[in-house]
Amino acid sequence: MTPLQPGATIGILGGGQLGRMLAVAGAQLGFDMLIYSPEDDPPAGRVAAGARKAGWADKAALQAFARDCDAVTLEFENVPVEALAAIEAAGTPVRPGAKSLSVSQDRASEKAFLQEIGIATADYRVIDALGDIAPALEALGGYGLMKTRREGYDGKGQAWVRLGHGGIAEAWEALGKRPCIIEAPVRFECEISVLVARSVTGETCTWAPPRNTHANGILSKSSVPSGLPKTVEDAARWKAVALAEALGHVGVMALELFVLSDGTLLANEFAPRVHNSGHWTPEACQTGQFEQHIRCVAGWPLGDTHRLFDAEMVNLIGEAGLVDPASLGPHDTLTLYGKRDARPGRKMGHITRRLGLRIG
Ligand code: AMP
Repeated sequence: MTPLQPGATIGILGGGQLGRMLAVAGAQLGFDMLIYSPEDDPPAGRVAAGARKAGWADKAALQAFARDCDAVTLEFENVPVEALAAIEAAGTPVRPGAKSLSVSQDRASEKAFLQEIGIATADYRVIDALGDIAPALEALGGYGLMKTRREGYDGKGQAWVRLGHGGIAEAWEALGKRPCIIEAPVRFECEISVLVARSVTGETCTWAPPRNTHANGILSKSSVPSGLPKTVEDAARWKAVALAEALGHVGVMALELFVLSDGTLLANEFAPRVHNSGHWTPEACQTGQFEQHIRCVAGWPLGDTHRLFDAEMVNLIGEAGLVDPASLGPHDTLTLYGKRDARPGRKMGHITRRLGLRIG
């Protein structure tokens, strides 16, 4: 495909903070960025060249959007694959393609796909009915984390369940009696993620894997370096590259991994898009994840991903997003998402701190 020229229009499906940061990066490269979102006044709409409000099932609106874009990407993995098909039917390429989405939208197909391509995960069982839970727990050693197959995020749609301790029916009810998986508990030493980019021509690159800390199921901090041996980091990077290649992914994506005390890596899940654990990359690396993603979508060559600084990214969640500018340190880079309402648990922004110059 011929690379897009500056001045072309790139559409983004979804209007949240990831779309907002992609829109800023795309504008910097000279593109007109157009947002498609079912929301009123989405955060991305306020920094883009334009925004359309329409639903994911509105085929006519999707096709009109497609006709106004030279390429379309997404910031939200739960866009229905039918919406992507409608855009492609109008002759506009969607990057990444439907495969990255359809595999990641369902935790069962995601885990099966990872295992199929040789990326180990926690042992798991598929749950379709209440009666499946006890036999699954028996097979997994009596205790496990039940997760809805679809639409879980930030620890939502999850419940620990234990054989013989009651509460199983309540957990099934609380998760909406929806198809689930149960995973064996992983006694991990730490959690890391690998951001990987794959270009239209199949070139790939990764960033240094950050060590991620969660609070209440929500990412709270990502730090680089991870402190792990290079052999472990390299193994993690290879897994992410293998995954991007197996999916034929175009753009940036993230693979989340558990690290066990002996250095064994187990994949938890992947996101077929730019990712919160990569928010430090624009400030600490030669090329950040947002610019890289736009380069991929535009059919441009990849930028270098070397890390130039040690860095720490802290999420501003809920009231923490009401930042007092006087509290900012000289090495803090503040990014706010323009959300009007600081509800508990809502990601409002983040601060990246460069911790020192690193050469090489
Ligand atoms: P997820 O929504 O799958 O990313 O899970 C959110 C967080 O829950 C993870 O980042 C882990 O901290 C924890 N978690 C998820 N799955 C497991 C597991 N099988 N064993 C232990 N902790 C888990």
